[in-house]
Amino acid sequence: MPIGTAGGYRPRVGQSLLRDQAINGRRETEPKYICHCGQTFTSASHLRDHDERHRNEMQCPCDASGCSMRFNTKGDLRSHIRNKHQAPLTRR
Ligand SMILES: [Zn+2]
Ligand SMILES: [Zn+2]
Repeated sequence: MPIGTAGGYRPRVGQSLLRDQAINGRRETEPKYICHCGQTFTSASHLRDHDERHRNEMQCPCDASGCSMRFNTKGDLRSHIRNKHQAPLTRR
């Protein structure tokens, strides 16, 4: 892995994503690596690290019929099911 090559190098990953975001001035630390989710990173390894999460996420699909939602964790899935597919049980 080359180290220290990120100096003035601007890969074409950002496209026009940054145009809609308010960036406070242009600095040397301006994020150059942009994930498809919109998060920005100042180094390729950070982006790659972050991208790993995308591959591991959404592993918990909802099995309710007609629902195609997916979640990162079983906890998220469970609360989704409780909120969307079950009648609220707060009343007695
Ligand atoms: Zn991302
Ligand atoms: Zn669902």
